[in-house]
Amino acid sequence: MFKKGSKLYSIFNNKCPRCHDGDFYVDKNPFHLKNILTIHDKCDKCGLKYMMEPSFYHGAMYVSYGLSVATSIATFIILTLIGMDLMWRFIGVVIALIVLTPFMLKLSRIIYINMFVSFEEKIGDGGRELEDGSRMSED
Ligand SMILES: [Zn+2]
Repeated sequence: MFKKGSKLYSIFNNKCPRCHDGDFYVDKNPFHLKNILTIHDKCDKCGLKYMMEPSFYHGAMYVSYGLSVATSIATFIILTLIGMDLMWRFIGVVIALIVLTPFMLKLSRIIYINMFVSFEEKIGDGGRELEDGSRMSED
């Protein structure tokens, strides 16, 4: 759907924000609630540490908040256009928020790390090539 190299590719395909090859979440399905936010320690293709510093993903709260507000407004507008009562519009918003929260939680973390890490094309094929021909490994 999205080309490799764009941040949307990483976000919607659960891929490492730097190489777009390694997986980000251990379990892609947002409705497996038990390990919904379990991420790999680091990318198995390029070695990027996903937990860049302690409590790194606390900032993803703000992304999640924005997604929730956008979802609420969109649901409300759609239900208004359909012609539902005000009461049913609010009930619809609550249902949409409950159903979509697992998606938004997952999206918020991967959007957040994509705000700090950019795609690097060279890294995608298994490691950064140094001038002397050796491969750089990162811990
Ligand atoms: Zn990677």
